[in-house]
Amino acid sequence: MQGLMMNRPLSVIEILRFASEIHSDGEIVSVRTEGDLHRQTYRETYARAGQVAHALGALGIQHGDRVATLAWNGYRHFELYYAISGYGAVCHTINPRLSAEQMIYILNHADDGVLFVDTTFVPIIEALKDQLPKGLRLVVMTDAAHMPDSPLDLLCYEDLLAPHDTTYDWPDLPEETAAGLCYTSGTTGNPKGSLYSHRSTVLHALFVAVTVPLSLREGARLLPVVPMFHVNSWGMPYAAPIVGASMIMPGGRLDGPSLYDLMETEKVTASWGVPTVWLGLRAEIEARGKPPSALEQVVIGGSAAPRSMIEFFETAGIDVCHAWGMTEMSPVGTSAQVPVAKADAPFEERMDLKSLQGRRMFGVDLKIVGEDGTRLPQDGKAVGELYVRGNAVISGYFNNDDATKAAVDAEGWFGTGDVASISPDGYLSIQDRSKDLIKSGGEWISSIDLENIAMAHPDVANCAVIAIAHPKWDERPVLVVVPKEGCQPSLDEFHDMMSDHFAKWQLPDDVLYVDALPLTATGKVSKLTLRKQFADYVLPDVG
Ligand code: ADP
Repeated sequence: MQGLMMNRPLSVIEILRFASEIHSDGEIVSVRTEGDLHRQTYRETYARAGQVAHALGALGIQHGDRVATLAWNGYRHFELYYAISGYGAVCHTINPRLSAEQMIYILNHADDGVLFVDTTFVPIIEALKDQLPKGLRLVVMTDAAHMPDSPLDLLCYEDLLAPHDTTYDWPDLPEETAAGLCYTSGTTGNPKGSLYSHRSTVLHALFVAVTVPLSLREGARLLPVVPMFHVNSWGMPYAAPIVGASMIMPGGRLDGPSLYDLMETEKVTASWGVPTVWLGLRAEIEARGKPPSALEQVVIGGSAAPRSMIEFFETAGIDVCHAWGMTEMSPVGTSAQVPVAKADAPFEERMDLKSLQGRRMFGVDLKIVGEDGTRLPQDGKAVGELYVRGNAVISGYFNNDDATKAAVDAEGWFGTGDVASISPDGYLSIQDRSKDLIKSGGEWISSIDLENIAMAHPDVANCAVIAIAHPKWDERPVLVVVPKEGCQPSLDEFHDMMSDHFAKWQLPDDVLYVDALPLTATGKVSKLTLRKQFADYVLPDVG
């Protein structure tokens, strides 16, 4: 028997319409490329989204067309998110840190009709001038006074909006209609597109809101360090207007001192980002001797949060929520938070929980499978490849059947490429990305676990463990360290710290010192680049 309920489609623009009425004074505060701090309410944002939609019509955009953005976190980018999807087109966010080759590939693969670009990134487009798809219109996200001089034919965002009415008759779209498109940063092969629907985007926003309520509540002031140009800034631009949280947009100023200042002046209560950005904020907190005064929570994800980092923030009185996910999951999959029943547990025990990747969010299912494809038990011991399914997980890649076939199993689960165990009470422990695992003498060594211990050494600013080829053991782990100024921690010191937790054969064979670690387009340590960097390095017992 069918239920007798209305079947109103879930729709992205409904989020902003709701916020414009119910949280009308909620703010979007933006560090602008023009150099100032700009403020606008959700009510004003909804009105401007209406103008953008009219402008898309004037540009000849049709339902289903892809409209690209290349921009920092800011109110214009936010307006575009809603206006493009609400109009019935697909908001394709492009990561400005991609290589020129990858950017051209995805502009062509997505077949974008218009590209909205921040002034900062105009030079990137100029450099690609001769390779840009024919007919691609370029709109610079600024006003007439700040338009750059350029050999390109550029339209001005504010001029484009100005003639239009603020009310727009948003179309009724089936909820499965595509709303957003984001390509993985493609550390291997060409980037692959995740095509989000209105339904998946709204559901993901609701799931995230109930999963991280300290960050996402009425009156919260949320600073997304994670960019809107990659995986929708982890869904914050959709979740914040639902709950009535304001958004404090840092633009391109993502260094520790700038983030600290913005957090202080705007009384930021929560902030989300990858571990590398928290290294900068941590150094700033240490230098000033206290954390930003209103900051209650940081969400750390995108790569494993080192335990020493979690302990630092928790000791400073800031709650840490460690989260795991990926582009193909919209992206949030799990979160590590301490359940109320364990709130009074000893510090060590609580940190043990937070160092794991956490438990699944509602709407997400997890399973681990062995090399032969059979499902492994969730006993906290069995380690296998992690598969997921859920309401906001892709069913396949955009126009890429080969990649879809490789990623989706016979039962429709999506293979994450991560290797993990799951405890009986549902805590996920990511061991590695399968391509980063170290196989020594037929046994696996988790680089994440070794890094976690090395990061706790007081002389270490950052580190990564990579596999180096070995004639007898296939691969051996080597620790690559960015030491703090004037320091050079020795291999013996690391072995001392690690020997309580690891068997002797799992310890790194050597420690190498570097000034900085290479980062991927999403701000994570690039082990691929690091392995190439040390391709000619010979292990001590081999040379
Ligand atoms: P890319 O890095 O290629 O842009 P994603 O942003 O989708 O791709 O990254 C997803 C991957 O990042 C996951 O599959 C996992 O390997 C890693 N990751 C994300 N969060 C965590 C975490 N908390 N701990 C360990 N690894 C993580």
